[in-house]
Parts: sequence; structure tokens; C-alpha cells
Amino acid sequence: MGQAVCPETVRLFGMQISRVSMTQAVDTLLTWCASPRDGACKFVVTPNVDHAVMFQERADFRAAYENASLVLADGLPLVISARAFGRNIPERVAGSDVVPAVFAAATQPLRVFLLGAAPGVADEAASRIHAQWPNVRVVGTLSPPLGFDVDPVENARTLAAINAVEHDLLLVGLGAPRQEIWVNKHYRELPSKVAICGGATIDFLAGHRQRSPVWMRRCGLEWLHRVGSEPKRLARRYARDACVFPRLLWREWRHATS
Ligand code: UDP
Repeated sequence: MGQAVCPETVRLFGMQISRVSMTQAVDTLLTWCASPRDGACKFVVTPNVDHAVMFQERADFRAAYENASLVLADGLPLVISARAFGRNIPERVAGSDVVPAVFAAATQPLRVFLLGAAPGVADEAASRIHAQWPNVRVVGTLSPPLGFDVDPVENARTLAAINAVEHDLLLVGLGAPRQEIWVNKHYRELPSKVAICGGATIDFLAGHRQRSPVWMRRCGLEWLHRVGSEPKRLARRYARDACVFPRLLWREWRHATS
């Protein structure tokens, strides 16, 4: 894993998952954000079952995981599976939880750039962030057009906009695997100290989408809430995961017992 000082990891479905609690993840991220940059931007990925499935299928996604500095267990099924194989991950550390936790724990000014989500959503997220966490300053927002990552002109424009504003933390909300692949391609050119591949976190911060109730998150049922809120888009994704994930479990079990 990654270019930076990494915590201990646990191997699961081929991924190296960082063995950190929420508190340790927040402390690590704030330390990285407060320290002078040492090498390239450090980036964070947040695996769930869907990532585990994509990890088997896509070399570019695997490469992103290879270079990530922190790999946080976003999905409860990953934590439970790891434990079942005798590999302890302290707890679930979801991207959508760790970002507000970092904001809440910031005691020094923290400069943040929000990349992604639909036009206007990141600005709404910025207003709410400023109201709730006075030490956090959103210094830039950008909603690049769909397909910007495969359009050299739009991609260069996006990189230039991010490079034009000094900041500590880049929150990337482009959806998986696009965000991981994009960050892995460009982390050496980013001015950020840390980039977090955060999926729909910007939407949650803006209040545009609602997280599932806490009890559902604790029971590992957040995915059910998400399918209910976006059935068309997510039903196919979860149906595929439901077919592939048991096979991953079976393979892991055979390796663990052979
Ligand atoms: N998104 C974006 N540009 C794109 C595709 C997606 O900004 O080209 C945003 C989308 O608006 C949403 C976020 O990416 O805010 C991804 O949310 P999603 O629920 O898809 O995250 P995932 O569960 O796939 O990580």
C-alpha cells in the first residue's frame, strides 16, 4: 500500500485494509492536514462490498488501492468478514462519517476543496459546513461536467481549478470507481495534502441526500436504504454484488483454511 507512513493492514479479498478505529483515522487525517506536505498528496479510499467486487474486476481500481495511504473499512460486511477470518478490523469507518468527524475535531483552521456532486450542491454543503464547524473553511468547490475525466481539456481545466486554490483537504465525490481512478491518476499533480474519495458525502453534507437511520447503519443495512432511495440506479449494482460477494467469501474461506 501507498507512498506514506501507513498503519497496520489486514488482507481481505485481495485488498489491504487499514486496521484503524474512527478516532485513529481522524487523528491521522488531521495530522496529515496540519503537517507540511511530505511527497505527493496522500489519498484515502473507503472500501465496501461493491468495491470488493470491483477490485476483482478492474486493474485500474486495484492500482488506486495500491497507492492509497489509508484504506478505511466503509462497509460493515467487510468488518464482519475480516473478523470471521480471524483478522481484526476495530470498527467500521465510513467515508461519510469520517469527513464530518474530521471537521468536528479540527482545532486549527482546515482548508477544504469540494470536488464533485451536481452543480450547486457543493456550495450548499459549504454553507452548512461553515455554519456547523467554524474551523473549517471551504476555499473552493467544483462540479466538473460529466465525463470530464476522459476529456483532456475538461480534465486539465479541473486540475487547474484545484491547483489555483491552496487547501489542505480535497473531498472527491465522483462516485466509485471514477473517483479512485481519477485520484490515482492525478495525485502527484494535486496541491492537496490529503484527498478523500468520499462518494456521496458532499450530497449528505449539503442535505441533498439523507443517510440511513443510525440503527440501519449499525446493522449493516445502509445499502437497503440507498436502494430504496435510488432503486433504478442501485438495484443492478447490488444484484451483481449479491451474486459475486458470496463467491469472494467462499474463495477467502478456502484460502484461510488451506
Ligand atoms: N458524480 C459527479 N460526477 C460524475 C458522476 C457522479 O459529480 O461524473 C457525483 C454524484 O453527483 C454524487 C457522487 O458523485 O454526488 C457519487 O455518489 P454515489 O452515490 O454514486 O457514490 P458511490 O456510492 O458510487 O460511491
